[in-house]
Amino acid sequence: MGKNKAVILDRDGTLIEDKDYAYKIEDFKLLPGVIEGLKLLQQDYLLFIVTNQSGIGRGYYSESDFFKFNNHLIKVLEENQIRIEETFYCPHIKEENCECRKPKIKYIKDIVDGWNVEIKKSWMMGDHPSDISFGIKGGCKTVYMITGHGEKHLRDLELEGIIPTLVHTNFLEAVVEIRRLNK
Ligand SMILES: [Mg+2]
Ligand SMILES: [Zn+2]
Repeated sequence: MGKNKAVILDRDGTLIEDKDYAYKIEDFKLLPGVIEGLKLLQQDYLLFIVTNQSGIGRGYYSESDFFKFNNHLIKVLEENQIRIEETFYCPHIKEENCECRKPKIKYIKDIVDGWNVEIKKSWMMGDHPSDISFGIKGGCKTVYMITGHGEKHLRDLELEGIIPTLVHTNFLEAVVEIRRLNK
C-alpha cells in the first residue's frame, strides 16, 4: 500500500482567529480562505491539527473548555465536508518541559506511525516560529502564515535562522502553492 501524505495544521492564528487564547465559542472565527483551502488540500492529504494550549496549564480555561471549542471547529468543518483525522494538543506550559509541546516533534512521530505518513512529502502550516521549527525537525515542508501572530514573530524567525519553505498571508493562496509544488 502506498504511503499517505499529511498536512499538519496549527490551529490558533492559522485556521481561526487568535485572540490571545481562543476558547470561547462566541469568539470563534475562521480565517479567510480556510474552508476552500482545506477542501482542496484533503483531495491529496490527510489533515491533522497540532496545537499548543498552554492556557490550560496556566488555568485560563479548562480541558473541557478546550474540547468544547475544538469540537465546535471540527463540527463546522464537517458541515463543509472537511475531515480532520485527529487533533493533538499540548496542555502544558513551556516550563513543564513536556514532550508534546511544539517545537518538540512527538506528535509528528505519532502521525507518521499512526497513519503511515510519508513525512518528506508532507507539510506543516503555522503562524509561529515554533510551528516552523517543529515541521523542519520533523522532516516536512513548512508554510509560515502571516496571519495570527505571524507578523509579530517574523523578525524572530529571521533572527533564529528558521527558513520556511513558503511564506503566505492567505490560507487559500498557500494551499494553491502547496498543490502546485506537489505536481
Ligand atoms: Mg498559532
Ligand atoms: Zn505538552
